[in-house]
Amino acid sequence: MTLTADVLVVGGGPAATWAALKAAEEGASVVLADKGYCGTSGATASVGTGVWYVPPDPEAREAAMSSREALGGYLADRRWMARVLDETYERVNELAEAGRYPFPTGPDGTPLRNGLQGPEYMRRQRIRVKRAGVTVLDHSPVTELLTAADGAVAGAAGYRRQAGRPFEVRAGAVVLATGGCAFLSKAFGCNVNTGDGTLLAAETGAELSGMEFSNAYGIAPEHTSVTKTAFYNYATFYRANGEVLEGAGSQRGRSVIARTLLMEKVFCKLDLADEAAQKAMRLAQPNFFLTFDRLGVNPFTDPFAVTLLAEGTVRGTGGIRIVDDGCATTVPGLYAAGDAATRELICGGFTGGGSHNAAWAISSGSWAGRTAARFARALGRGTRQVSAAGVRTASHRCRRTSTSPRSSDRAGRGVAVRQTTCATATCCGRRRELDGVWAWPWSRTPAGCTPPPCCATRAAAWPSGSTTPSSTPPGTTGSPPAGWTRCGPDRKERRRDRARVGGAVHRL
Ligand SMILES: Cc1cc2nc3c(=O)[nH]c(=O)nc-3n(C[C@H](O)[C@H](O)[C@H](O)COP(=O)(O)OP(=O)(O)OC[C@H]3O[C@@H](n4cnc5c(N)ncnc54)[C@H](O)[C@@H]3O)c2cc1C
Repeated sequence: MTLTADVLVVGGGPAATWAALKAAEEGASVVLADKGYCGTSGATASVGTGVWYVPPDPEAREAAMSSREALGGYLADRRWMARVLDETYERVNELAEAGRYPFPTGPDGTPLRNGLQGPEYMRRQRIRVKRAGVTVLDHSPVTELLTAADGAVAGAAGYRRQAGRPFEVRAGAVVLATGGCAFLSKAFGCNVNTGDGTLLAAETGAELSGMEFSNAYGIAPEHTSVTKTAFYNYATFYRANGEVLEGAGSQRGRSVIARTLLMEKVFCKLDLADEAAQKAMRLAQPNFFLTFDRLGVNPFTDPFAVTLLAEGTVRGTGGIRIVDDGCATTVPGLYAAGDAATRELICGGFTGGGSHNAAWAISSGSWAGRTAARFARALGRGTRQVSAAGVRTASHRCRRTSTSPRSSDRAGRGVAVRQTTCATATCCGRRRELDGVWAWPWSRTPAGCTPPPCCATRAAAWPSGSTTPSSTPPGTTGSPPAGWTRCGPDRKERRRDRARVGGAVHRL
C-alpha cells in the first residue's frame, strides 16, 4: 500500500496527535502511523500525566521556571521554558474547550488543569485527529524513513500488522513522535517505547543530544509498574527496621534509594501529604491509587516497599536534536517531538517527569506539526525519487552523531544503547558486520525486490547479549504467501552472520 500526504506523523501518543492536529489545521493532508492503536498506545495513554500548566501570572511563571533549574545543572534555556509554558497553557485550554475534556474543579469551583487522565485524554485526541481529516494507520509500525536524492526525508515505510503487508507513505515532511526508549523496563505503557524514532533519525544522519542524561529511573511500589514519581515528593523513605532513610527523596535522593536497594529493601509512606493534598492527588491521578486500593494499602499511612524502574528517555532528557523553534532536526524534512526529541531545552540534565514531559509533548508536537506542514506545502506535490534511509544504503550517514559510544553506554539500557551504537557502528565502518542481519532468514520481500526495509530495525531491536531475535515478527513463519519469496543467506552463512553480529554488539 502506498499513500501520499503532505505530512506523515509517526507515533500515536500526545506528541503525535498534537502534531497531526496542528498540521491539519495548517491545511496539510496528514497521515498518522502508530505502532499500536492511537488512543491507547504509549506512556500517557495508560497512565495520565501531571502537566506544566501555569497561568500567565509573572510570579507563578518565575517560580515554575526556577523550580528545576538547579536540578538540571542550569542547562535549560529560559526562552524555551517560557515558550513551552505559553503553548501548553493555550493547548490545554483548547483541550478543555474544543476537546471538551472534563477537567475536575477545585473546592472553590476553579478548574484544575494541571493533570490529565491518560485514557480519557488520548480517547479525545484520537477523536479530534480523525475529525480533522487525518488518515490514521493503527498497528502500523514505521520501520524505515525514505529520503530524496538531496538527503531530505520524504516519507517512511512500515508494516501493517493486521493486514499482514508492508506500506509506504510518500510525504513532504515527517514528524517523529515515537516516544522515548524504556525497553523492557516494564514501566506502565512503555511496551511500545523501544526508541524507534532515535534509530530512524540516526539512520538519516540526524543528530542526537543530551543522551548522557537519559538514565532516568522512576519510583514504583515493588512488583508494580506505575511510576508516578512526582507524588513521592510527599514521601518519607524508611529502612525495614522503621529507621528514616536519610537523604532519600524523589527529586534529590534517588541515588540514595538506588544504593540502599542494592543491599536491602526500601519502604515509603506518603506521610507528608496533608488532607487537602491527598484529595488533590486522588482527583489528579486516580490511576496512581489503583495499585494501592487493590493491595489494601493506604499509601499515606502504611509503609510499602518501593523499587526503581529504568525509564530511559521516557523520563530522561536525551533524544533527537532539534535546531529551531519549529522542532526541525538536522535533516531537512524531518521534525521531532515529545519524548523522541531532546528535552534538554526545558529540563537541562534532569528528568522532565511529573509535568514537564507532558507539556513538552503538547508544545513540541504542536510546533513540529505546524512547521512540517508549512515545509511540505512550500515543497509542493511534485514526484520525488525516494530511497530507503536504512543503515545499509545511506552513505551520508557517515557523519558522526553527537552521541559518542561512551555517552550512549551511559544512556540507560535496552535498544537506545544499541540504536546509538548501531548508528555509530556504521560510522566506524562496522556496516558490513550488520549486513548479515538484514538478510535474516524469515525476512520476506516481494519477489524480485532487495531485502525489506524493516530488517535494520529488527536487528537493532535485539536485546543486549542476545544472538537471536527477541520475538518472531508477525507473518514470518511458515511458507511464504503466493507472490512472495524468502530472501536471505543459507544456513551456514546465517550461523556465521549471527555469531559475527552478536560479537559486534558485545564489542561496541
Ligand atoms: C508511568 C508513567 C507516568 C508518567 N507520568 C508523567 C507525569 O505525571 N507528568 C509528565 O510530564 N510525564 C509523565 N510521564 C511521561 C509521559 O508519559 C511522556 O513524556 C509522554 O507520554 C510522551 O509523549 P509521546 O507522545 O512523546 O510518547 P508516548 O506517549 O510514549 O507515545 C509514543 C507513541 O509512538 C508509537 N510508536 C513507537 N514506535 C513507533 C514506530 N516505529 N512506528 C509507529 N509508531 C510508533 C507508540 O505506539 C506510541 O503511540 C509518565 C510516564 C510513565 C511511564
